[in-house]
Amino acid sequence: MIDQKHCPYCRTPAATGCKHLAVAAEGRDFVRRCVELCQGEKQWRGLGEQRRRQRVLTGEWSPEREDYTWLETAFCEQFLKRLTWFGEMQYELRSGPKPNQAGFWVLLWSKDPRQLWWELRDEFERQAQAEQPKRASSPKAAVRSPKTDRRHERALPL
Ligand SMILES: [Zn+2]
Repeated sequence: MIDQKHCPYCRTPAATGCKHLAVAAEGRDFVRRCVELCQGEKQWRGLGEQRRRQRVLTGEWSPEREDYTWLETAFCEQFLKRLTWFGEMQYELRSGPKPNQAGFWVLLWSKDPRQLWWELRDEFERQAQAEQPKRASSPKAAVRSPKTDRRHERALPL
């Protein structure tokens, strides 16, 4: 463990785990794990569909943006940071089964992960509703687009 992180609440090493560690996952699995843990697969897919349709409508759609595999940074910005129960997101360099398999893990902390997951699922629903084209009667709401360019932000020195 090269740069071991500790729980911001009780100082337990992340590798040991404590009740505040909502999830620890490899970067590429992080978003999927979050969606699983909050049992929000249906809501998440719905939100993805909706955004795709909207991008086709606004001409923003492009195949490489199409895949809804989110980077954890974008996911954190758009969903996690808005939650009351969001604590902190950290990276920890962990070694894999083989020396060349070391990689960054994403740690998500919360004072109460259970509450965090409930809140996250609600947030998916809330955002899906907010984006219903019919409800967005004010032009401002319709024009507002999420910050999608954060996908270049992955600055993990692997
Ligand atoms: Zn803790």
